[in-house]
Amino acid sequence: MRQVKTTRYYKVDREHPAPDIIEAAARVIREGGTVAFPTETVYGLGANGLDPEAVEKIFQAKGRPRGNPLILHVSSLDQARGLVSTWPPEAETLARLFLPGPLTLILPRASAVPDAVTAGLPGVALRYPAHPVALALIESSGVPIAAPSANLSGHPSPTCAAHVRSDLDGRIDVILDGGPTEVGVESTILSLAGDRPVLLRPGGVTREQIEKALGVEVKLHEAVLNGTPENPENGAGSEATTTAPCPGLFFKHYAPRARVIMVTGDPDRQAAKIRDYLNSHQDLRIGVLATKENAVSYLESTIPPAHLEILGSRRNPPEIASRFFSALRNCDDHEVDIILVETIPAAGIGLAVMNRLCRAAENRSI
Ligand code: AMP
Ligand code: MG
Repeated sequence: MRQVKTTRYYKVDREHPAPDIIEAAARVIREGGTVAFPTETVYGLGANGLDPEAVEKIFQAKGRPRGNPLILHVSSLDQARGLVSTWPPEAETLARLFLPGPLTLILPRASAVPDAVTAGLPGVALRYPAHPVALALIESSGVPIAAPSANLSGHPSPTCAAHVRSDLDGRIDVILDGGPTEVGVESTILSLAGDRPVLLRPGGVTREQIEKALGVEVKLHEAVLNGTPENPENGAGSEATTTAPCPGLFFKHYAPRARVIMVTGDPDRQAAKIRDYLNSHQDLRIGVLATKENAVSYLESTIPPAHLEILGSRRNPPEIASRFFSALRNCDDHEVDIILVETIPAAGIGLAVMNRLCRAAENRSI
């Protein structure tokens, strides 16, 4: 698509963002423009969440389907309470424990929230991010900021400003570069709008943490793992899952240019499968996303991969989560045809990684 804008780019200090830069970006938000900014999860593309015309610019810049609702970002719990028609005790409990932080709550919306944000749904998704730049921007703007991830729709989410630039330069007004994000996968989304809590998207706050805090079982939305070979018990229709309105789960997402394939089995079996695949597909450029423990076995294999990304140790799933999206983008930079990705157990933040991986691979596995 044609590039129409000059995108202003500012570096900001994560802990102490310069007030004049924040004010300039906040003015863009107030005047109906778009600003990409860092959060603790991934970079967001923000606009005034109370202004339908500004919100429309997010959908245009990303090429995002209009039926996929946006999360409203706030800089205080009071601001969050003002955007809902009820604030149940569960919201209060979770807010006290996890907010600000990587947890988005869906609650019945107040009438001030435009349809453009919720895609006409009765609930609104609210997030109070734990990042000084995001908080300063929201506070300075004086409005809730609607923000999906700052990537072209369908691409892997951006975990640094270079990813935002490569997708959206010339399509948005401002990029605030606050360095790489920490969590690396998007926020957990929990719906509190129905009879019982439903996890719509796993993320930085884990299902296990939420269950402990609320003292109840938290159902997984049926599309979260979509019945992967590793996790057949999480497949559609099983006892562990349920349905709830969650349009985003059905759009293609997180996909790099190359074809992604998940590799299942115990770690040794995964390594053997990847070496076999490299041997039998010598005509293709193959990228491998490996755990630290298995990486050496690919470097020493007869046919090494065209590109190898080490995600981190199996003993440190948060490290794997933080590198996952940039590893996919790096494989595209190395122009591979296929990306083989080692799988990890779908527990804790591993559930968030496996959810993104299943989507990126469109459930393909070996
Ligand atoms: P993204 O902006 O790409 O991080 O995706 C946000 C996701 O949150 C959407 O794709 C939906 O699945 C979910 N979501 C946002 N707002 C709502 C809402 N009002 N009701 C249900 N799901 C929502
Ligand atoms: Mg997104």
